[in-house]
Amino acid sequence: MSSSEDESGEEYLFKIVIIGDSAVGKSNLLSRYARNEFNLHSKATIGVEFQTQSMEIDGKEVKAQIWDTAGQERFRAVTSAYYRGAVGALVRELVVQIGESIAKEDYEEFGRGKSWVKPSMGDSMEFRSSWFWFLSSCLHIVTIWVMSIYTKLRFDAWCEVLRSTHSDTTVARMLVGNKFDLENIRDVSVEEGKTLAESEGLFFMETSALDSTNVKKAFEIVIREIYNNVS
Ligand code: GDP
Ligand code: MG
Repeated sequence: MSSSEDESGEEYLFKIVIIGDSAVGKSNLLSRYARNEFNLHSKATIGVEFQTQSMEIDGKEVKAQIWDTAGQERFRAVTSAYYRGAVGALVRELVVQIGESIAKEDYEEFGRGKSWVKPSMGDSMEFRSSWFWFLSSCLHIVTIWVMSIYTKLRFDAWCEVLRSTHSDTTVARMLVGNKFDLENIRDVSVEEGKTLAESEGLFFMETSALDSTNVKKAFEIVIREIYNNVS
């Protein structure tokens, strides 16, 4: 985007955009990174918002202006306007996508740290409960299968948005699988995420805006990569 000189030395400013489907945790990733805040009941983002966060690389101050989508992820026109805010050619993207489809209510019902509980076969060796377990396992397998197809489709769609707005190959891109804290009920495996990312030459990282896992790291990898590309 821009780099300017002042008496304190070189200063860099990069624009990063976070894109991905609604409710995957984009706004919370940003608020966790920029303000160390998390909101379980966050509303869809209204209006275009960005946060600026600095880090030091090679003794230089590198500022990242990170933009959050306006909760209008579904409309391509809005998305391209969002990209247009970038000055110059050095726009960098942070792609956020998640296979985790769990609804908040389900999350609350299962609770953190709990998993699909296999009915105890010890004292209550009931046919019904094992039958229930069998059916729920089948359902789970089908869900995983459907989710992996869905994730691939959404990933391709977002990559296409990136391609159509930025053909520049030096754009730093990362695929982020958020809600890592819900790992025990995940729909998309780590391998799957990695494979998807590799297929498009993206960095890959699993994060949790809720418990902060890898959030800082993910943003900093992207910022560092942008810095490496321009310096
Ligand atoms: P956005 O539409 O992509 O901006 O998603 P939000 O940041 O608004 O998050 C959507 C919902 O997912 C909210 O209820 C968040 O509290 C929740 N959420 C976001 N990140 C995480 C996470 O890392 N773990 C869990 N368990 N929930 C998350
Ligand atoms: Mg949002």
